[in-house]
Amino acid sequence: MSRRRVAKKVEELKPSGIRRFFDLIIGRDDVISLGVGEPDFPVPWRIREEMIYSLEKGYTSYTSNHGLLELREAIVEYYKKFGVETIPENVIITTGVSEGVDIALRAILDDGDAVLIPEPCYVSYKPMTILANGEAITIPTNPKFKLNYELISQYAKETNPKAIVLNYPNNPTGMSYTKRELEEIADAVIEYDMLVVSDEIYAELSYKEKHVSIAALEGMAERSIILNGFSKAFAMTGLRVGYTIAPPDVTAAMLKIHQYSMLCAPITAQIGALEALKNGEDEIENVRAEYLRRRNFFVKRLRRVLEVDMPEGAFYAFPNIKSTGLSSEEFAERLLMEKNVAVVPGNAFGECGESYIRCAYAVSMDKLREAAERIEEFVNSLK
Ligand code: PLP
Repeated sequence: MSRRRVAKKVEELKPSGIRRFFDLIIGRDDVISLGVGEPDFPVPWRIREEMIYSLEKGYTSYTSNHGLLELREAIVEYYKKFGVETIPENVIITTGVSEGVDIALRAILDDGDAVLIPEPCYVSYKPMTILANGEAITIPTNPKFKLNYELISQYAKETNPKAIVLNYPNNPTGMSYTKRELEEIADAVIEYDMLVVSDEIYAELSYKEKHVSIAALEGMAERSIILNGFSKAFAMTGLRVGYTIAPPDVTAAMLKIHQYSMLCAPITAQIGALEALKNGEDEIENVRAEYLRRRNFFVKRLRRVLEVDMPEGAFYAFPNIKSTGLSSEEFAERLLMEKNVAVVPGNAFGECGESYIRCAYAVSMDKLREAAERIEEFVNSLK
């Protein structure tokens, strides 16, 4: 027998259910994709111009591990709008929120430490917990896809978790939390002495209420690791830039991992991110208004044939397809084959996502109209 080459925990990881559908449609122009959560806006021109100019000036070096001081200062100013007071020393610039998830979990988990992960959720939290040698404890959220004090207590009592991962506004459900709801979560977090990894990447895309960071609540700053970035609100997905805001001890630990594994985020992207924060307010306002318009249109159309809650943020609708009698995989596969519309089966986001599909409405109104038409035809054809 030859020696095992790939680590067992990696071999056992399932590939992302989103990518599987993405791969199916590569090169197919006839498909309308509501599959991948990628903004369809170009990066605002001023940001691109600033990055081009920086390249012309030859700014292609490493930055400090922490990231450009000016950008960290801008983030400190910016996060005041979500209720958080911090200092540049508590901010690390990362290569996207993806890296933030990784370094946050690796920095805080000892072998076997439990992490509470409410589902349905973004695909990386569970694998990254496993790769950090933690134990992922999934919590099926309530019918409104939310957590509350009782739910957290029920799981925390049994597992003594080190941390809980929150993501609001949420991918894939579109739900978010009000300050009142966050206070309830914070009570449980404090009672069970946990840390919170709070992925706030869709903070700017909040439609119902203004986003409040859980770190802004009393007693929570020292327990919160905020993750945020520029991929969604500023459409900078490929530029790979995000950041963490955390207490000093956790920041120092994350910085050690970041400096060995990443060194620093790309300087060009950091310069673009700085421009985004300096002059991006109007741009964001327009983007939010456009997503809101699309949300209202799309959800209204979906409701003709499927049950769907009104998303409170992000750019995803999460309709229930139980009435069709199909599983979420069958629904997504047949919709793709029969109507050339790509969506993601809800079970890609955890078992309790079964009976749902995720539709990203980050596509033009024309495409959205056509996709809604085809989904309606498809559901009606099943009757
Ligand atoms: N977190 C959530 C909730 C996401 O939806 C995504 C991307 O879809 C990410 C993190 C990854 O973000 P980034 O591009 O900053 O790595």
